[in-house]
Order: sequence, then C-alpha cells, then structure tokens
Amino acid sequence: MAEEKKSLNFIEQIIEEDLKNGFDSKKLHFRFPPEPIGYLHIGHAASICLNFGLGIKYNAGVNLRFDDTNPTKEEQEYVDAIKRDIKWLGFEWSEELYSSDYFQQLYDWAIQLIKDGKAYVDDQTSTQIAEQKGTPTTSGTDSPNRDRSIKENLALFKKMKNGEFEEGSHVLRAKISMSANNMLMRDPIIYRILFKNHHRTGNDWNIYPMYDWTHGESDYIEQISHSFCTLEFNPHRELYNWFLKQVYDGESIKPKQREFARRNLSYTVMSKRKLLQLVEEGFVNGWDDPRMPTISGLRRRGYTAKSIRDFSDKAGIAKRDNVTDIALLEFLIRDELNKTAPRVMAVLNPVKLVITNYPEDKEEILIAENNPEDENAGTREVPFSREIYIEREDFREQANKKFFRLKLDKEVRLKNAYIIKANSVIKDENDEIAEIHCTYDEDSRSGSGTEASKRKVKGTIHWVSIKHAEKAEVRLYDRLFTDEAPDSHKDKDFKEFINPDSLEIIENAFVEPSLKTAKIGDQFQFQRLGYFNVDDDSTVDKLIFNRTVPLRDSWAKKDK
Ligand code: ATP
Ligand code: MG
Repeated sequence: MAEEKKSLNFIEQIIEEDLKNGFDSKKLHFRFPPEPIGYLHIGHAASICLNFGLGIKYNAGVNLRFDDTNPTKEEQEYVDAIKRDIKWLGFEWSEELYSSDYFQQLYDWAIQLIKDGKAYVDDQTSTQIAEQKGTPTTSGTDSPNRDRSIKENLALFKKMKNGEFEEGSHVLRAKISMSANNMLMRDPIIYRILFKNHHRTGNDWNIYPMYDWTHGESDYIEQISHSFCTLEFNPHRELYNWFLKQVYDGESIKPKQREFARRNLSYTVMSKRKLLQLVEEGFVNGWDDPRMPTISGLRRRGYTAKSIRDFSDKAGIAKRDNVTDIALLEFLIRDELNKTAPRVMAVLNPVKLVITNYPEDKEEILIAENNPEDENAGTREVPFSREIYIEREDFREQANKKFFRLKLDKEVRLKNAYIIKANSVIKDENDEIAEIHCTYDEDSRSGSGTEASKRKVKGTIHWVSIKHAEKAEVRLYDRLFTDEAPDSHKDKDFKEFINPDSLEIIENAFVEPSLKTAKIGDQFQFQRLGYFNVDDDSTVDKLIFNRTVPLRDSWAKKDK
C-alpha cells in the first residue's frame, strides 16, 4: 500500500485524496482541450498521456474538446491532424466536442450575469481600459461605464451580438473588483466583437467569448471532475472559480482546476507560434518535417507511439518548470528499435572493392540473422559477388593500430561473409581512391563451421554487392537547434540558433536488395550506422530513408 502511494504523481494524489473524501469514482471525468491553431507537439503529449492515462487508470471518460473560441486562426486541417495524432498515440476519447457548440449557452449565461448585476458593457477604447488596470501593487480605477443600468447593459450587449457596433468598440466585462490583488480579477473582458468567419459557426456570431469565460464553463457543461492545465494558468484559477460560482446549480459537479509544469525539451522550441514561424519561413518542410518536435514530425522521423508514451511516463509530471533532456527520448527509441528493428546493410558513402581471387561470374546467397536481439526474427538472404561497395571511411591505406577497419596488408571480416585482405588501390585523376583490391579467404565464410570461419580478426565492416544493390536516398537528420534552450536568450531570436547541418541528403546510397520491398514507415537498423525508416516520400522507383537516430549519442561525445 505504502509502495503504491510512493509511485503516484501529485496529480494522482489529488484524485486519490478526493476519492478518500467521498468523491464518487464513477463521476471522474477528464478532458484534453487543444486549441486547433497548430499541430500537436511532444509537450502536448505530456498532457495527452496524463489525461488519457488517468481515464484508463480510473476507467473514466476523457473528452476531446477543441477550444475553438478564436475564429481568426483556427482551421479544419489542425482539427484533423490533432485527431489523427491522438489516435496514433493509442488513445480514445469518449466524446469529440467543441467549445463553439456552447456559444449559445455561454451567451445565455452572460445575459444572466448582466441581470445579476455582475457584468457590464464598456465602450471605452482598449487603451483606456488598459490604463485603468492598475499595477500589481496599486489598485485599478473603475470604468465610467461600470454602473450602467441592467436595462442599458442588456440593450447594448444585444446590439453587440447583432453586429450593430464596430469591432473593438464595445466589450462585455465581468464586474468583480478593480482593486483585487489578482490583476486577472480586475473586471476581466468576457466578450469581444469580431466580424470573423468561424470554422464551425460560420457568420452566426459577431461576438466571441474569451478563454477564461469559456474554459471553466465548458468544463462545467461537460461535467469534468478535474481540469488539468499548465502552470501559467495558476493565477487564472481564482477567476475560473468565480465564473463557476455564478452559474453553479448547487448539485452538479464543480470542476476542479489544478496545474502541472509544462514539458520543455532541450534543443528545441515548443510553442505553436514559434513552430508556425519555422514552417512559414521555410526553415523546415512543413509541420511534419522529421526535425520538428511535433507528433507528426516525430512519427515521420521514426519515433514510435510507444517511445513517446514511455517518454511522457519517464519524464513524469512535475509541479515546477523544468527542461527534459532530449537524449532521454533518443535513448528510448534506440532501446526499443534495438529490440524490434531488423538489421540490414546499407552503404552511405560508397567506394568500390574488388575481390580479385573471387570468380568473376560467381554469385552466392549468404544467410544473415535479422536481429540477434530477437530469436524469432529469423534470417534473410544476402547476395554476395566479386565487386562490393564498402564505406569510404572504412578503408585507409595506412592507419595506426587503433583503426580496426580495413587497411593495406591487413584483414577484416565482411559482415555475414568472408575475411578479406587489402592488397592495393587504384586511384583516379584527383588522387582519390577509385577501387580497393583485396583477396578473400575462401574457407572463412561466416557460419560455415570451418576453422577459418571461426578465425577472429579485429574488425567487421558492412558492405553491399554492387550487382545486386538498390540505390536509395538517405536523409540524415540532426537536432534542429545547436543551443540547448534556443528561446531562452533575451536579445537573440530563437532562429539564430538553427543548426545549419540539421539535414544532410545523401542521394546515392546503396542498400541490400531485401529493402526493395520496404514499405513507408518500415524501420531498420542499418548495421553500424543507426536506425532508419522509410520516408513518406518514398516510392517503388525511388527509395528514401530517414535516419531516426544514430547508434550512439554523438552529442554526448561532443560535449566532453
Ligand atoms: P503552445 O505553447 O504550444 O501554444 P498551448 O498551451 O497554447 O501550447 P493548447 O492547444 O492550448 O496549447 O494546449 C492543449 C493542452 O495541452 C492544454 O491543456 C495545455 O496546457 C497542454 N499543453 C500545451 N503545451 C504543453 C506542454 N509543453 N507541456 C504540457 N502540457 C502542454
Ligand atoms: Mg493555448
């Protein structure tokens, strides 16, 4: 029992406490409330995993509520993308709802507020209203419109609704107190005039409710028991409760707002506004660019839903702001793919190697293990012939003892194949190596059981048979920013820290023929290189792979 308690995060503790105090567990209900003005990112995944995780744990419903009160920026494309991403993460919402469906109810309640003497129409300019706000240490000043009669307020508010006033000329304000310590309580605006087309309500409305007025009341309409949001909403809690009190019927569930720390990730930015800039200004190729911290970008990069859920789990739910190291996410996907991804051979920077004592027209089919980490993964056939490609970096004419790859007069094993020895090179007119000439030990084939096959040589390198290889494009992705916290610099724009080498495209890589039939999304370990997946742009005629992560964390080395 004590142990179970220890592993509860503080949000779960709040719920357990409520249950202990008599809250009926059948009435638990949660929601995830995205604003459809951008794609979901890994920060949202924290909130998704929290809310939907609670739904699963307590067998409670979780609503997907689009917080769509801002008609200027919302788009159907974002609604569709958000739904796709939540499903992909493996969660199911109980209902798909929209704050805009509550516009009439919110309006009716606003009328009620006016009738109760708790709201008034203000026709001052926004500058005047701002000037009267006061400061955190000094009281504000009452608006000259604060004591309008209920009748006059009702008439003006109806005119606002009917589109009889200019945009920005009138607002409806809650009548709370201009001297409240909490500045948000100083007669906040609850409605503004906007002649904008809304993605769902079209031109039905000329006035739109503000976030604070909408959010808590939507939670109440949906009878959400616990409304979890990020820390910046903590000062809004008092207002959330004030609004609820005005409409509360005395019996229904009164939603409880509690706050947790935003998920921040190193080497990236997370706000939708900034991500939109990266897209619109062409720093990346769209919201699902594999360098983006969006769910769709991570998916395209080769991150699995499991790795993102595991990441949310491991990073945990915190009370205070913090930054999670992106290396944790990279570690998790590497660890998962190590267990699941079939091994294959691909050469990204090819140089030709000729085995001079191998018969010219001979071909062999070698058998290679698909995944030594998974005994059920089986084997595949890999063709071998006299001419192969190896990585240019895997050969040096001369090198010191620490170079365990191929060098002149030394031996190396070709993965899944034979031991070869380099004898000479042929160079082109630029003094670059054009061919490496080797001889092979005919008895040394891997798995053949001979003494020579068991002979140990220091290095093993990967290769592909030239005659059989498939050409492929390989996109090597790296972190999008060179700085750990690109948006933390006061006098510098976050875009100044974009990594100029975040994408390297290799157009002429060669992969083993088994990859010819690889499908979009399939994942592989390119032996000795890293984990790769088939990109969305890939076709039968042109194979394209993305690097998800290298085998080791190259950034950790750089730091040392
Ligand atoms: P952004 O900074 O990306 O614009 P937002 O809070 O405006 O974030 P919303 O679409 O309003 O984005 O968020 C939907 C839900 O996801 C909210 O409950 C919000 O608190 C939560 N959320 C957003 N970003 C994060 C984050 N980085 N970490 C945890 N939860 C987040
Ligand atoms: Mg928001």
